[in-house]
Amino acid sequence: MPASRRTPAEPTPLTGSWAFVDLETTGGNPARNRIIEVAVVAVDDGIVVDEWARLVAPGRPIPPSITGLTGIDDAMLADAPAFSGIRDELLERLRGRTVVAHNARFDYGFLRHEFRREGITFRAPVMCTVRLSRALYPGVRGHGLDALIRRFDLPLDARHRALGDARAALSFVDAATRDLGAASVTRAIERQCKGPSLPPQLPADALEGLPHSPGVYLFYGEDDALLYVGKSIDLHDRVRSHLAGDHRTHTATRIAHRLTRIDWQETVGELGALLREARLIKQLRPLHNRRLREAGAQVVIAVAEDADGYLAPAIVPARAPDAWPGDRWYGPFGDRRSARRELGRIADEHALCRRRLGLERGRGTRPCFAYQIGRCRGACTGAEAAVRFNLRLTEALGPRRIRPWPWGGPIAVTEESPDGSHGEYHLIDRWRYLGSTRTEADAHELASDPPETPFDRDHYRLLVRWVERHPRSVVPLDLPNGIPD
Ligand code: SF4
Repeated sequence: MPASRRTPAEPTPLTGSWAFVDLETTGGNPARNRIIEVAVVAVDDGIVVDEWARLVAPGRPIPPSITGLTGIDDAMLADAPAFSGIRDELLERLRGRTVVAHNARFDYGFLRHEFRREGITFRAPVMCTVRLSRALYPGVRGHGLDALIRRFDLPLDARHRALGDARAALSFVDAATRDLGAASVTRAIERQCKGPSLPPQLPADALEGLPHSPGVYLFYGEDDALLYVGKSIDLHDRVRSHLAGDHRTHTATRIAHRLTRIDWQETVGELGALLREARLIKQLRPLHNRRLREAGAQVVIAVAEDADGYLAPAIVPARAPDAWPGDRWYGPFGDRRSARRELGRIADEHALCRRRLGLERGRGTRPCFAYQIGRCRGACTGAEAAVRFNLRLTEALGPRRIRPWPWGGPIAVTEESPDGSHGEYHLIDRWRYLGSTRTEADAHELASDPPETPFDRDHYRLLVRWVERHPRSVVPLDLPNGIPD
């Protein structure tokens, strides 16, 4: 048994029983891949009381990339037991302890899958040292184990081996305690581990199984009325935070008082969660989602030349199924009043004719009062030529221009799960979100027979931002546009 890094007299944030765990596996997907090595460092009240590690035969060849990373090859596992041969020893070491791991979602997910194959439902409180690092050092970039080892000069005997990495995670907690003091680290651990007190009407197991994954969560009240839909890149943390009152507002309090059931839908990544949240809110119209709920009133300013060659703005609904954000769409706006307000603003700021902008009646064949006081340049009399007027109007509206669709047909925006084990294809055509698939082939199939999908300003805004920030995630599909011109 190794000597502890601390003496019993020193204050520790690790009061109670902890199991620092690390796994080596054949890949990143717990449903498809298997454990090849497991280590547990048991800590009681800050003192290491046991270290245990086992190689595990996965029943399949080790991928060369894994051997390259870990040094574990098929020959080393020739005499190793299968998981069934070590499960009881492992369970004994985990029982009654909080499982601690660096990126705990990965290790905990693998443990649950392996135990489930043995017919055992494994559950334990979990603490993640990546999240602990983020909480303790919020301004610092890099919370991976390599970054922490470098930053804190952590002792390391075998990186990418289970026992070496489990010890390194414990060393990080020790280093942070020396750096920030036991009280700070204790508070951060408590915030992570302490379950919120649930509203009394919510069943005690309401949060069970809530994953540390991206997705959307749905809060229901009495008579299964949908109260609220939200999204997060970590459903578990977000819902707990809701219930713990971390974002306490009047609305949040009302929701918590009425909450009787929680449901959730996992997504592969953040974009999937954002898209699904916006769609579910419009479809299901939860009582407390005001911001994304208004689906029907979206409008744009569409400009087209009139008989005189002057551009004439018209406020048109954006959500008609065959409406298409052509080159001369501006907005989108939540309602007609907002669009008119914008036209009024640019008329005032750019001395543009309010009649031609559709804000006042009449065509004006003679200059009106606005001309006399210098608030227009006389488009009605030809004093301002159409080409000049059009240029000024286009420039004034420019910042609100809906982005032209730069691709020749539909695209898929790809996302990978945080552990790289699976992905998702979000099918987009002319800024309309048509749906998500798990494979590119399915995305092609969906694109070849797209559902009728109206333009949606919330999807538009988040998709524009997303493809700007993640240009490499775009996969153009070799298909013509599915929406008629
Ligand atoms: S003078 Fe003519 S162009 Fe100017 S605001 Fe009046 S109608 Fe419009």
